[in-house]
Amino acid sequence: MKISIIGIGTVGAAVATAVKNTGLAHEIVLFDRNGVRARAAAEDLGHAAAFSYDVKITAVNNYRAIRGSEIVIIAAGANQKVGETRTDLLHANTDVINDIIPRVMANVDPKNVKIIIVTNPLDVMVMIAQKLSKLPAGRVIGTGTMLDSARLRTILARQLSVSTQSVYTYVLGEHGDSSMINWSSACIGGIDLNTFCRQTKNTLPATTRKTIEHRVHNAAYEIIQGRGATWDGIAGAVADLVKCIANDEHRILSVSVVDGSVDKAVAMSLPRIVGNNGVVATLMPKLDATESAALRRSAKIIRKNFDSVK
Ligand code: NAD
Repeated sequence: MKISIIGIGTVGAAVATAVKNTGLAHEIVLFDRNGVRARAAAEDLGHAAAFSYDVKITAVNNYRAIRGSEIVIIAAGANQKVGETRTDLLHANTDVINDIIPRVMANVDPKNVKIIIVTNPLDVMVMIAQKLSKLPAGRVIGTGTMLDSARLRTILARQLSVSTQSVYTYVLGEHGDSSMINWSSACIGGIDLNTFCRQTKNTLPATTRKTIEHRVHNAAYEIIQGRGATWDGIAGAVADLVKCIANDEHRILSVSVVDGSVDKAVAMSLPRIVGNNGVVATLMPKLDATESAALRRSAKIIRKNFDSVK
């Protein structure tokens, strides 16, 4: 499979490494408006490939070279600086997506391509990309709350002394400050969270849940404070999404696509079945009244931000 990545900054380069390490791509094309940066990344990654999979990695200076890509990953644009929210990037990154999508669409097969959006503020960027590309909504996929859900699963797994692999729970809504934790459908190894806690003599009182929510919501801010940006977590999420698409796995991932599940034509994260054709179905988990209200509020925030730049 040929995969192209647009935007080879901190995140794009980490994504390239993680995608290479899936072994699923025979060719990875890197494009950045800073050609020197992309060429250096291709060179470095090419050397790393000598120790793993045989994959052709090239940096290119025009979009013609992405022809034949089955997946195009967009990781270009401004990132959060200390003290900034994802929404602070709205105007700058709208320009970036407006610049990139027409160029991508002029060089890919619209019947087959899947576009993965990483650029923040994620959900609005998905809406803009889908509108510009005119692709079916299920093939313009934002990584959404895959990363937030991974953060939640990791914290819960440590709290409950089980493997992260056994924790099934989602952060839903915006990939941003209004995201919400879907405690109502959380389960551990197929057993609902409350029953699991009773049987294992764990307790998760409201104060602990609040602390967990705070840690999930603030994870990106803390990482940016400590190392200037975040890249490893998102690279893992993108590689997992690529694997799910490439292998037509039909796994359920909390990704963001435009649909009307919560509000009219808004992109936000819900549990969705993902396969070779992108998102093939959307699921509505069990939600209590507070969670439903939080999800609707999240949709309104995304819609308002989209309306301010469309
Ligand atoms: P960075 O500044 O290190 O890199 C951005 C790159 O984009 C630069 O190399 C720049 O030259 C390139 N670029 C900008 N405009 C371009 C254009 N029009 N065409 C081609 N290339 C262009 O930033 P980063 O840390 O790599 O972050 C990139 C994006 O990823 C940011 O928007 C950030 O917020 C987002 N991000 C998303 C998640 C997520 O969970 N979705 C996680 C982390 C970062």
